[in-house]
Amino acid sequence: MIVEGAIVDRDGIRTGYVRFRGPRVIEVGAIGTDSTRGRVRRIHGIVVPPPVNSHTHLGDSVSSREPPLGPVGDIVGSPTGLKFRLLSETPRARKVRAMRSALARMRRAAVAATVDFREEGLDGVRQLREASTGSGVDVRILGRPLARPVDPVELDRLLKECDGIGLSSSREEGPEVRATIARRCRTLGKRYALHASEEVREPVDRYLSPKPDLLVHLVKATPDDLEAVGAAGVAVAVCPRSNALFGRRPDLARFEKLGLRMLLGTDNAMFHAPSIFRELEFAYVSSRLMERPVSPAYLARAAFVTPWEWLGEPRKAEIAPGSPATPIVLRLPTDDPAYQLVTRATEHVIVRPGTDRPGPSSRP
Ligand SMILES: [Zn+2]
Repeated sequence: MIVEGAIVDRDGIRTGYVRFRGPRVIEVGAIGTDSTRGRVRRIHGIVVPPPVNSHTHLGDSVSSREPPLGPVGDIVGSPTGLKFRLLSETPRARKVRAMRSALARMRRAAVAATVDFREEGLDGVRQLREASTGSGVDVRILGRPLARPVDPVELDRLLKECDGIGLSSSREEGPEVRATIARRCRTLGKRYALHASEEVREPVDRYLSPKPDLLVHLVKATPDDLEAVGAAGVAVAVCPRSNALFGRRPDLARFEKLGLRMLLGTDNAMFHAPSIFRELEFAYVSSRLMERPVSPAYLARAAFVTPWEWLGEPRKAEIAPGSPATPIVLRLPTDDPAYQLVTRATEHVIVRPGTDRPGPSSRP
């Protein structure tokens, strides 16, 4: 199969064609120069690496009710918030089922990987591992040890089965807890991540020390804070829909201006479907609404490119012969490709080379 149109990948945005054999790219070039002389089926569309959802709490899919109005801390605050009550009251098998169904939905929208903050200690990690088996989504689990002060035995047992640790924030976790966890993660080659400046501003030195691999939110961070995060080279996952539900928004225009390594996530699965396409559109449109516009190209990178770099698999975001990428095709108009990706992409227009039969082109 040949796709003619636009390519959006680690090298940027360009017009061209991509020839596939099965799911793999075997040829890329300028339109009209392919080697097949018209013998191969061709379609029109945008070729991109599969998206990554860079921040989820899939365990939260046990609930899908409208969240009450009020401070976010009352709902997701550990350990007495509504979310933690629900998690502790829900039978294990139901939690695993809920997570499995969330992952199936993500898979239908071509999400290839997700970075999940999994609470509930070692059993929490095991629940998600179980749910993700055979899901087709590469689930990176950032677990959370239960004992405070940190029990080194518990921490090691946890890190043996997950990809790192995701903490609530530097407000809830003291310097010793953060230092112990970050040090152990570093030693074992695992990731250390935490939420920061979500409800209120936290001092930037606090969440940058010890240096995390990933921060989440930074809604209340000042321009100087963001500059410090950029200077430290720390990646930031933003979740604009989740923030908006509680009357907040990250200043994505400033993120872009400072060149922050931004990733996009859908946050608590009890609030929103884990749809990266809906997140992209909301991020873009809300930035225009607030007259702080962010570019579609920067947002597209946050969903399709930067997370692959963060995961240590940058070549999966390269559309080139011989690359390990398994790109998807979105049957959309190909002018302003990044704009199409952030405003018009849905699961209905996805073609997975090597798997799907391409239907008629969509011109919505
Ligand atoms: Zn979160």
